[in-house]
Amino acid sequence: MEERYETENIDLPVLSSVILSIQDALFCRNSEGIITVWNPAAEKMFGFAATEVLGGDISIIIPPEHREEEQIIIERLARGERITHFETVRLTKGGQRLYVSISPSPLLDEAGVMTGAVMVARPVVHKPDSGEKHAMLAAIIDSSDDAIVSKNLNGIITSWNKGAERIFGYNEKEAIGKHITLIIPDDLLSEEDYIIAQITAGNKVDHFQTTRERKDGKKIPVSITVSPVRDSSGRVTGASKIARDISHQKQAEEKQAMLAAIVDSSDDVIVSKNLDGIITSWNKGAERVFGYSEEEAIGKHITLIIPEEHRDEENYIISQVASGNKVDHFQTIRVTKDGRKIPVSITVSPVKDSSGRIIGASKIARDISDQIEKTRKLEELNNAKDEFIGIASHELKTPLTSIKANVQVLERKLKDDPIHPFVSRTLQQVNKLSTLISDLLDVSKIQAGKLQFNFHDFEINTIITECIDILQQTVDHELIYQGCSRKIMVKADRIRIEQVIINLLTNAVKYSPKAKKVIVECQMEEDMVVIRVKDFGIGIPKHEQDRIFSRFYRAEGLASVFPGLGIGLYISQEIIYRHKGEMGVTSKEGEGSTFYFRLPVLHVD
Ligand code: ADP
Repeated sequence: MEERYETENIDLPVLSSVILSIQDALFCRNSEGIITVWNPAAEKMFGFAATEVLGGDISIIIPPEHREEEQIIIERLARGERITHFETVRLTKGGQRLYVSISPSPLLDEAGVMTGAVMVARPVVHKPDSGEKHAMLAAIIDSSDDAIVSKNLNGIITSWNKGAERIFGYNEKEAIGKHITLIIPDDLLSEEDYIIAQITAGNKVDHFQTTRERKDGKKIPVSITVSPVRDSSGRVTGASKIARDISHQKQAEEKQAMLAAIVDSSDDVIVSKNLDGIITSWNKGAERVFGYSEEEAIGKHITLIIPEEHRDEENYIISQVASGNKVDHFQTIRVTKDGRKIPVSITVSPVKDSSGRIIGASKIARDISDQIEKTRKLEELNNAKDEFIGIASHELKTPLTSIKANVQVLERKLKDDPIHPFVSRTLQQVNKLSTLISDLLDVSKIQAGKLQFNFHDFEINTIITECIDILQQTVDHELIYQGCSRKIMVKADRIRIEQVIINLLTNAVKYSPKAKKVIVECQMEEDMVVIRVKDFGIGIPKHEQDRIFSRFYRAEGLASVFPGLGIGLYISQEIIYRHKGEMGVTSKEGEGSTFYFRLPVLHVD
């Protein structure tokens, strides 16, 4: 109980002037909460003039959430408790929140009954009150991507944030008050007992990976952390649970595991190394091909498998990779644990970290011993075949030359004999056979690099005309020559150039059965002469145009319609190349083709 002064000792005018001049806000309220005193400092602090508030309710300066507190203070004062300072929030006339320290004292009547209270208020430097802290926490919780949920010890959900709503599909209303088993799949219910047991014992459950069930029944992998919630006396009253949806993480892990499995089951060598050349991964394929186990290889320098004489390559490869380039199908030699040298084809690609920085290289190597062996066998077979063609055509040529000579004699001698047409047809066929065999012989000579040339100077128009004349006797197409009026001299093998022209003309006629003419042009273009053979026949599809110059290649589907071996263009192109010229074709399917070749010119008269 306050010690009481005798009122007669108090000089009332002095007291009033103290109240008026004191720097602290001083105001009184009666037991009904009506303001009875309001000094100038209070006017200044709260912005209300005394005339505005005297007789009014004290709640005008108390924020709603602090009204209960005001009541409690009054009750405590009435019980005779002494309250020195309490920090709280008050409102100004403008509605601003003011942090103040209030020292309240009871106002007592003569009988010692409390009739109200006098309050002295001083501003305090702003300190967030617990209400504000709570608001801040609530905002953090609500903006979290994780599900943050609390429950009491009976497992009843007591709070549910936006993250929980997003992850589990239930909104706050649907979840609060329900048992936490709402989101636990039936087969995992026992987990909850374990968690509750841990929490009750005051333990935290950290990063527990499990599965929870969404409102739509979908199961999602989550990582949960559960912590005990205690009351002010330290007693565990519930649990807070933070759950993170780890579907993406799980998918990434599965992908990683899958990749690892692929790498491991690959027959190829898959190895990675850092930019210093140190091996950082080594798959089963590498183990099988090189003989070193994973433990033996990882941490070693990649020169472990590079033979001495190939070490320079490594610098090249590393420099390529460091500048972000890939090294593709590089054929080289590597050495195994037992010292065997094996041919490999390697592809090296830069490995980048998540920020795109190059941190090493991955290397896929394939043991190509088998492939090389196969290629070698194929080459051998091919050579044997070429050799056979060479020998066979040579052997055929000798008797054929004699047959041809004899038939030519007969053909001349029997000019007026009724048997002449038969001899003449025989000679035609013998000539065809002879050309075929010469062509075959040429192919094997080209293969063996033995195709011989005899270069002479001659005029090109003349031989084109000769070729046209010879061929015109045997074909129905009109062979039209649009030559050059000037004499174009070339240095070439006359017989071989004739062979090319005859070949192009024969093809032009053969592949244009419905056309009536073939046009031959000869023109100067810069310092080259260009000869074009233009037909109006079947043409050649675009994708075949390059390939028809290959040995034995014939456009698809031709075999049954047009006879041929597919070597004429191959020989012709080789002949023109050997004259430092070039050969090509332009063609449109169904419209016709123009074959051309260019030769260097000696001079033009
Ligand atoms: P062959 O005529 O004996 O098949 P070539 O080497 O002379 O051999 O020609 C190769 C292929 O090129 C022919 O099979 C044919 O498909 C195509 N070809 C050549 N000339 C013509 C042409 N004038 N018109 C259409 N296709 C042609």
